[in-house]
Parts: sequence; structure tokens; C-alpha cells
Amino acid sequence: MSDFHFKKGADGVAIITWDVPDKSMNVMSFEGLEELDAHVAAALADDAVKGIVITSAKKDFAGGMDLNVLASLKDSAGDDPAKAVFDGIMRMHGVLRRIERAGMDPKTLKGAKPIAAALPGTAAGIGLELALATHRIFVADNPKAKLGLPEILVGLFPGAGGTTRLVRKLGAMGAAPLLLEGKMNDPKRAKAAGVIDEVVEDPLAAAKAWVLQAKDSDCVKPWDMKGYKMPGGAPYQPAGFMTFVGAAAMVHGRTQGVYPAAKALLSAVYEGALVPFDTALKIEARWFTHVMMNPSSAAMIRSLFLNKEALEKGAVRPQGVPDQKVQKVGILGAGMMGAGIAYVSARAGIEVVLIDAAQDAADRGKAYSEGLLDKAISRGRSTKEKKDELLARITATTDYAALKGCDLIVEAVFEDPKVKAEVTARAQAVVAEDCIFATNTSTLPITELAKAAKDAAGFIGIHFFSPVDKMALVEIIKGKKTGDRAVAKALDFVRQIRKTPIVVNDARFFYANRCIIPYINEGVRMVAEGVEPALVENAAKLVGMPLGPLQLVDETSIDLGVKIAKATKAAMGADYPDDAVDDVLFWMYNQGRLGRKSKSGFYAYDDKGKRTGLWQGLADKYPAQDDQPDVTEVQHRLLFAQVLEAVRALEDGVLMDIREGDVGAILGWGFAPWSGGPLSWLDMLGAARAVELCDQLTKRYGDRFAAPKLLREMAKKGETFYGRFAPTAKAA
Ligand code: NAD
Repeated sequence: MSDFHFKKGADGVAIITWDVPDKSMNVMSFEGLEELDAHVAAALADDAVKGIVITSAKKDFAGGMDLNVLASLKDSAGDDPAKAVFDGIMRMHGVLRRIERAGMDPKTLKGAKPIAAALPGTAAGIGLELALATHRIFVADNPKAKLGLPEILVGLFPGAGGTTRLVRKLGAMGAAPLLLEGKMNDPKRAKAAGVIDEVVEDPLAAAKAWVLQAKDSDCVKPWDMKGYKMPGGAPYQPAGFMTFVGAAAMVHGRTQGVYPAAKALLSAVYEGALVPFDTALKIEARWFTHVMMNPSSAAMIRSLFLNKEALEKGAVRPQGVPDQKVQKVGILGAGMMGAGIAYVSARAGIEVVLIDAAQDAADRGKAYSEGLLDKAISRGRSTKEKKDELLARITATTDYAALKGCDLIVEAVFEDPKVKAEVTARAQAVVAEDCIFATNTSTLPITELAKAAKDAAGFIGIHFFSPVDKMALVEIIKGKKTGDRAVAKALDFVRQIRKTPIVVNDARFFYANRCIIPYINEGVRMVAEGVEPALVENAAKLVGMPLGPLQLVDETSIDLGVKIAKATKAAMGADYPDDAVDDVLFWMYNQGRLGRKSKSGFYAYDDKGKRTGLWQGLADKYPAQDDQPDVTEVQHRLLFAQVLEAVRALEDGVLMDIREGDVGAILGWGFAPWSGGPLSWLDMLGAARAVELCDQLTKRYGDRFAAPKLLREMAKKGETFYGRFAPTAKAA
């Protein structure tokens, strides 16, 4: 079975068609690369071939490198994995460089055979890097196609020449958003950015016509010509100087220096810009190897790519349950969450009935979708027709009879068990026996709420995060009696709306909130102790948390924090450990400082609700101690507050699969993505070191940092989470 097919036409054009068997999207492997190389060599050696077109038999061109292959390259390399990775990357460069040079005489730059890329659709990663090595790129006029180099998003950077070629083609400034943000563009935008050459109806025909008439000069890349100058200037030219100085600061400002790939990318760009092209490729390969060898990259690839995808594809879906795709969903409660859930459901083509107690509340819920769509239209991301189509799928009403025919109900009314029980019973009177009931509660036990349903096996938690349209994670919670069909239904629904699911067992705050609350609490507790609030916030950001704990509580609102604290205290009684936190939180609440929504919280805000800095009043009430802890100490407190909760969740059986613990943490609350998630972070640190730090923290700050039994046992045995829980941790 081969990945590339070769066909020589009577017109003298050789067509090399990429078509990886048994896959809907082409991905590159080293075997595939060798085949491609052999076909190109055969075409170049054949006098009857005048030009070559590389295309795909699938609707898209390629999704990129098979990341499993890259990971295994390192893992199977024995004693010298860096050399194996470097050699592998240089092999890739060799193949693409042979395509680029296409047999030309290196002195006269003449005699190359024209090679064009004909892309029917998406080309990502090495898919685009391969195209960039050809002499001209033709792309189908297909607005759904996405072209770009998204490697940075999984902890890598474009390492098959994409970095070097794009910078030389567009200049550092032009290439920056594509390389540093992994920005994907549709064909028209990609052409406007200068990444591709032509957007046409029939790229294969256009490419064939082009290779037949291309001249020698069409087949020489600017960087292979004498006197080539980088657009925008190289680092030691006056124009380029400013770009390169600014880029380092900008990248550091955005990434806080915690992403090895971003730094390595900058180095590859900067150093590569100072030397000839082939040396630049070697530099790119060295930095790429450096990134591949960093445990952070391996952890990011594992969580953000392999395991995320495995979860999305149903790795934890109960076996043997037939397809549970949702046709018609009833949403009870058209508030902030209900409105968001209605939008993402309708966007996925599902018919929606959105119910609230009053018609105007239901209408407001539907209007939320309208607002989002209007914004998308104004940005050119949607059309009036699509908006009308989507809105027509949402029925906003107070009439429960409209729920007839729903196969899934998602309840998102007030966080009050009585109200929830009442609406559940009302809906149940209308829908069929086999309709699955889900609740979006964030704090109430699913097993208790299930008592209001006729059939507890058909009752489940589907916990969305706010804002629903933006947040990628959905936490599915099994009550004690929840059955497999309900789990499958929830998973199939999440798949339809294109989000990433994790499935956990029922316990206070489930998984995500269970870990976030201690993070917020630890930050607030430090304020009470007299740690500088700015130190708390910056320490969090410097370790890769998207928001410091004080900003996070401002965003989620201080009254919500107070409500949760009160409920937790009522449930825990004398064991309640967070009185010190409540001192600060309740005081803020009593001052009327409720967070961003009241334009006053731990931060001060201007009239428009923009943060203007930490609120000075906090320092008057909780003066800073003279002796401030060092930043690492603050970071350890903030990180351990979260990761120990993740370990306890695993220990308690709330978390059933470590992949879900890591993927859920990054997507749910932005846990330091560079680490690959809390369990990956502990693996990097090593269980023994983690226990040692826990012991120190416990001595200084109390029992909440006590190392869980599981971690202690792993430290003793020298185990890692991904080692010990490997059978479930393998990507499906
Ligand atoms: P919200 O107050 O914005 O919306 C609740 C809606 O339910 C209101 O529109 C209200 O009119 C409606 N409602 C109340 N009683 C009703 C009844 N008897 N019949 C029909 N409609 C009724 O609240 P929200 O923030 O959307 O939260 C809803 C649920 O989602 C809660 O259980 C909450 O815990 C959970 N949740 C909230 C968040 C969040 O960030 N806000 C996140 C995850 C989960």
C-alpha cells in the first residue's frame, strides 16, 4: 500500500497524487516521504516528463505530519534520540530541497523541471511546507479550505522548512502571525498574505497548464538567486533590525517565556536570517530537535493533539451503544448558559427548543445567538442566509409542549434543586420515555438531581463552561445510576457541537471546579497573609496560567465565590479549611466589589469595564509584609493547590482516565498548557521531588498540601502517571 501514486500523462506532465490509504486526511510519514522522493526522482530523470504536479486524491491536501510518527522517532531511537530526530528532519529537508531545486544546474540555475502544487483543500503543517517547496501553488476556490502552519499550537514550530521558507518569502513581519500564532487562512486570505500563488476553480488543470509553459526563471526561488534580500530586511539591516528586536519582546510578553517552541522558533528565524538558505535549514532542524527533546513539547503534543483527538473521537465512549446523535434538543432556562448552549446546538444543525419562565426571557436567550451571528457577519465570518437558517432552528417559548420529540433535554435554570426538580418533571411529562435528561449544574450532585427524573439511568450532567461558544471543554458527569446510553448520548452531543469531552464521576465540584477553586483560594489566602497581590498575579502568569487567581475571581464574580464558600462551609461544617480566604472574599463582597461585572473587584476598572490595575484599597486593608516570598514559592503554592486536587480526583475515582485530567485542565481552565496538564507536570517534576515539595509546603502552610497517598506510593516506586496508568493513557 502506498501513500503517493505516480502517473505520466501523454502531455508530458507527471502527476504525483497523495492518497494515504484508509485515512480521510493525508498525513505524512517517513515512508510516505521516501515514496514521494522516489517519484520525484523518477520524474526528474525521465526525459519525457516536462513538468510535475503534486496533488491529492482526497478533498483536502494534507493535515500535516503524523505526530505519532514524530513522537516514535524519538522514543525508538535508543541512546541518542536527538541525533535520530535531527537526522530524520534533515532527511525531510533533503526531499523538499530536491523538489525545490528540481534538477537545476547549481551554477547557471537553469534546467529545473517545473513543479507545481495543486491543492484541492486544506493544507496544514508539512502539507503546506511541501507546497512551499514547489515552484507555484494553486489552490481550489474553496472557502472551507484552511492553509497554514499550526505547529506552534501543539508545542512545536514548522520544522520541515516552513519556518525558513516563509520568512524568506514574506519577511519576518509578514510570516510572524502565521508562524507564531499558527494562523490558518482560507485560500483568498492566504493569497493576499502571499503564502500561495493562485486561487482557481480547477487547481490540477491550472497547475498542469502552468508547468507546461514555465520558464527556467519561474523555477528558481528568490533565495536561490544572487543578491537575494529578505523582505523587510535581515537582522543587521536597519529596516530589519527593529522587527527582530521587537519580535523577541513581543513573543516573550505573550508567552512569558514558558513555551520552548516559541523561543526556538524565534532563534531559528533570527539565526537563519543571517546565513545562506541551506545553512538556515540546518539551523531550523537543530532548533526543531531541541524542541522535540524538551519534555514540555512531548507533553503538549500528547495532551493537546493526540489525547484531545482521542477523546473527541470517543476514546471513553461506552462500547456497543448505537449512535446517539441528537436530533432535537430542549434547553430549559434561557439565561447566560442556556442561550449559549442553544447557539452551539443550532450551529451544529440541531433543532432547538429554548424554554424560559417568561417569553421575553426566552426571546432574550435567542437574541444572544442573533448577536453572535451579527458580529460574525460584520467580521465576514458568516452570512445573512446562514444567520436566518440558524435562527430558524431555535424556537424560543414558555410552552413545554414544544419539547415534544426532543431526544435530549439540557437543563440550565437557576442553581436551585427545587427549581431544577420542577422543570425536570414538567419536561418529562411531555417527552418520550427514552429522552435523555442532562443538567448543566456546576455545584449540585448529579445523583441527587437524578431523583427528580423518572429514570436515573437516563439522567446525566453535561457541564459547559462560560462563554459556551468559546470554551472547548464539556465535562460530562455520571451520577451513581447513570447508564451507558446517557453517557453515549452526552458524548455524541458534544461531538456534534465540536467540543472536547471528559467523563468524570459525581463528586463535589466534579473535576474542573474542584481544581480551580483551590487555585483562586490560594491566591486570595496569600493576599490575607500580606503577600503583594501583584506578586501573586505575576507569579501565576509567569508559570503560564492565562489569568492570575485574583483576576479569575473578578471574572467569575466575587458573589459567586461567596455563594460557593457558604455552601461548602454548610456542607463541611467543622472541617471547612478556608476561613482565611473567606475573610478577604466576604470583606470584598461587603464593600460591594463583586468583580468585573460591578467594575470593581481585586482590580480597579474604568467606566468601560477595562482593568486599570490592582485596586489600591486592598493594600490598605491587607498591608504587604516586609518580607515577601520568592516567586517560585508563590508558583509552587498556586500550582500544587491545583495539581494535588487533580491527583485526589484520580485517587477518589472521580477522574477515570489521566488523559481527561490533563486535557480537561488545559481546555477547562487554561492550566499552564506548556506542561501538558497537571499530571504531565507532575511527571516532569518527578513524583519524588513533588512529594518533597509537598512536605515543605505542608510544614509552612498546612495540611492542604499533604502529598496524596497515591503520589507518595509512586515516589517510592519511582513511577510516573503516564507510566503507571499507561493502559488507559495510550492514544486511541
Ligand atoms: P442565569 O441566571 O443566567 O439563567 C437561568 C435562567 O433560568 C434564567 O433565564 C431564568 O429565567 C431561567 N429560569 C429560572 N427558573 C425557571 C423555570 N422555572 N422555568 C424556566 N426557566 C427558568 O444562570 P446561568 O449562569 O445561565 O446558569 C444556569 C445553570 O448553569 C446553573 O445551574 C449554573 O450553576 C450552571 N452553570 C453556570 C455557569 C456560569 O458560568 N454561569 C457555568 C457552568 C454551569
